[in-house]
Amino acid sequence: MDQREQLCELGHSLYQRGLTHGSTGNLSVRLNDGTIAVTPTGVSLGRLTPENLSILDANGDYLSGRKPTKEVPLHLAFYQTRGDRAGAIVHLHSCYATALSLIDAKETDDWLPHLTPYGIMQLGKVRLLPYYMPGSSAIGTAISGLAGRHAAVMLANHGPVVSAKTIEAATYAAEELEATAKLALLTRSLEPNALTPAQVHDLVRQFHVEWT
Ligand SMILES: [Zn+2]
Repeated sequence: MDQREQLCELGHSLYQRGLTHGSTGNLSVRLNDGTIAVTPTGVSLGRLTPENLSILDANGDYLSGRKPTKEVPLHLAFYQTRGDRAGAIVHLHSCYATALSLIDAKETDDWLPHLTPYGIMQLGKVRLLPYYMPGSSAIGTAISGLAGRHAAVMLANHGPVVSAKTIEAATYAAEELEATAKLALLTRSLEPNALTPAQVHDLVRQFHVEWT
């Protein structure tokens, strides 16, 4: 399966399982020739086809296909600051992560609670960014300002943005972020037994997690 087909298949799966809704959310992948395939504006992730993706050059300039999502700046910011650690980006308007951002809204470098090992292993520290108007170039500027230190950010009142080497890995990491946010909300009033700093440290060392 080529990268574009894989992106569409994962988009369908995310949509079918309610991880983003309507025509929200957008995905992109850096193709082997260095161009970027990104989901088009106004098209549900449940209805993607390889033919209706937008193709951009490495600077984000339009090359072919449908008109791209207005959230291109947040994709470019990851590609331009994380080098080959960012081969694909997943941005969702997922419910639990967004809900948690309404409650734990203080800007921080380590927003997602340390509840499960996979949350640590797949995401590293998730940076919370404040609310910005969707499509605003300020989102790209804010992500660029992190200088590539975070694989994943949470846009308050909006949704997560997750980068990884492949579209599959970025999708799985975005799912992990949502699952961890759900656990955090479900256990919020129950004094959850989070991983200890020593347990987190062991995971970071064992699995070479970026933890800066
Ligand atoms: Zn969005």
